[in-house]
Amino acid sequence: MPELPDLEYIQPRLKAALVGQTIRSVIIKEPILIRNLTGETSESVLLNRTFQNIERVGPFIDFQLDGMRCVVHCMLAGRFELSPIESELQLKSQSKPNGNKYRAAVQFQCDSNVLSYSDSKKMGKIYLAPEDESRLAQIPGFRNQGIGILSDAFDLQTFISLLKKERRQVRVFLMDQTKLSAIGNAYADEILFDAGLHPKTMCTQLNDSDKERLYHSIGAVIERGIRAVADAGRDISAKVRDHMLVRNRLHAPCPRCQTPIRRANVRGVDAFFCPTCQPETRKGFIDWNKKL
Ligand SMILES: [Zn+2]
Repeated sequence: MPELPDLEYIQPRLKAALVGQTIRSVIIKEPILIRNLTGETSESVLLNRTFQNIERVGPFIDFQLDGMRCVVHCMLAGRFELSPIESELQLKSQSKPNGNKYRAAVQFQCDSNVLSYSDSKKMGKIYLAPEDESRLAQIPGFRNQGIGILSDAFDLQTFISLLKKERRQVRVFLMDQTKLSAIGNAYADEILFDAGLHPKTMCTQLNDSDKERLYHSIGAVIERGIRAVADAGRDISAKVRDHMLVRNRLHAPCPRCQTPIRRANVRGVDAFFCPTCQPETRKGFIDWNKKL
């Protein structure tokens, strides 16, 4: 669930609540989510470790504990929740399979907070790794993130050079985290709508003005997302999507031209777009007479 604007909201809140806190107990209800590279059991390796720092690395949250790392990739449905430490009795009642307030897959009870991670699709991953660069490099995607789209290094010239030898569809390129770190499904749709580019456009079809517009749309849409998530001021487990103009708005009127929003399949994933504001650039992919 969380994309970059969500993680920009979540990370500082996790950091403020947890740095300096020690993990006093560990509950793992969904071991399938854990990838343990430490050689010790997950519970024992985490127990009594203190959070030193918490950073965002692309789509990952990097929990830096004393002597080890816990790196979380939420994928589609993972979400964090923070709550104050509760009495032992309450914790026992929460750990029952039904009526569990948190439905937490993994829970760390710290000195004064409880960090819960839940994941209804069980697609997210929690990597436990020693402070060892060769082990951290084994975490898929963690050490080969592309240029941070919020970093100063992400300028127009760099963006254009990334597109130079690019032969893929523009939406596939935008979501390649080894190039751009990091754009997910929701913001990819919003960026392409902002830039007026059909999601199936090939990168080779982009002219100079398209490239410049796309670059500025990335910055504008992500900044708008960060502001919207901050303004919503919701709990870190909340999914803030009210500001989306096309994502998951199938058949709703386009906010610019009132044409119903359509959905297309781009490499196996749904892409939402306005067929008027984002005109087709290649023939034969979508039958407009067919109800999508
Ligand atoms: Zn439109």
